[in-house]
Amino acid sequence: MTEICGMITSDRFEQLKNEISDYEEIKAGIPTGIEDYERISYQKKKILNYLNATEKDYQDFHWQLRNRFTSSKGLPELIQLSGKEVSLLDKVASKYRFAISPYYLSLIEPGNENCAIKKQSIPSVDELNDLGELDPMDVKGHTIRDIMTRRYPDRLIIKITNVCGMFCRFCQRRRLIGECDKVVQKEKIKNAIDYVHENEEIRDVLITGGDAFLASDDLLDWLLGELRRISHVEIIRFGTRTPVTLPQRITKNLTDILKKYHPVFVNTHFNHPREITPEAKQACEILSDAGIPLGNQMVLLNGVNNNKYLVRKLNQMLLTMRVKPYYIFHPKKVKGTSHFWVKIEDGLEIMESFRGRTSGLAIPTYIINGPKGIGKTPILPNYLLYLGKDTATFRNWQGKPFKVKN
Ligand SMILES: *Cc1c(COP(=O)(O)O)cnc(C)c1O
Repeated sequence: MTEICGMITSDRFEQLKNEISDYEEIKAGIPTGIEDYERISYQKKKILNYLNATEKDYQDFHWQLRNRFTSSKGLPELIQLSGKEVSLLDKVASKYRFAISPYYLSLIEPGNENCAIKKQSIPSVDELNDLGELDPMDVKGHTIRDIMTRRYPDRLIIKITNVCGMFCRFCQRRRLIGECDKVVQKEKIKNAIDYVHENEEIRDVLITGGDAFLASDDLLDWLLGELRRISHVEIIRFGTRTPVTLPQRITKNLTDILKKYHPVFVNTHFNHPREITPEAKQACEILSDAGIPLGNQMVLLNGVNNNKYLVRKLNQMLLTMRVKPYYIFHPKKVKGTSHFWVKIEDGLEIMESFRGRTSGLAIPTYIINGPKGIGKTPILPNYLLYLGKDTATFRNWQGKPFKVKN
């Protein structure tokens, strides 16, 4: 008897192993910024040489911002951009703004046409494609007092700057990025705070941009102080990609400010395991150590991360850095980004591959945004096959059907 039980159990565990054997085979071959660190360090040296700068400069986010590359100058040597790519870059950059921090530039793998970092940061001729709209979400129609977006009853967004460490080529707000860096005038922010004051149902304020953390420490300190004087504001959230594109921004001074105003949450934006470097990891850990819960909002992008194994590895690595995968966004139909669009089936396949096969903590909500800002809408593979008055039929994560009384 025991022997048979033993056999049955070991069969069952064998089966469980088989459920993820495909991933186990592939996962070590998915590159990360940790294993790639030697190459990244070599690139960093080349960039420091080119900019005639020191390690100390490199660790200073003001230096990183001042020294963002904003044209093709230097890129042929540093990342092996071809003559054709250079002329295209300059042409596209005159239409959609281009900037990349020396740090994020160091993650690009020179000569690799398919580099996921390059695709996110270096302009492509495909951006001149006319498909899509500049404002498919009708942000304009949901704007209050210039810098707020309100689509939901109890929360809203305040945009405090248009500055970013790197302008993502798939940015949904590209129409707002403008020609030059602008932190919003304090008067406008005061006006937004007054609105929050006047509307008692607003319990969640999301500060974003541009990149919210590219506002100065003083401005953030002042803004958080003002919001904390409003008793109905329960939580404050930041949207920032600095842990990914400019990890030098996450300083002790910044977290000393943030932690005075808890509960403060931060959502960041990793799209690929190669963005996880020792620096990025450290930036997340500094934020976590300050008591800030971290979430990740990934955008599903053709040619960058539309692969179930890659996203599984990304999400599992994020958990080891205490970052909870929060959302996967289906790409929006923003003009100039059509080469990044994927099918809804692609996203569903990723979600299907997660449930049961990895920690529930590693499974974000997959979101599609309806047109004209109708709202974030979750999509899932179907697990409920039939819902009757007395019974319901489901399938489990392996596809096995089962019935329950309703
Ligand atoms: C995304 C978004 C939020 C936050 O949504 P959550 O689902 O609560 O994370 C709030 N306001 C606007 C306008 C948004 O677009």
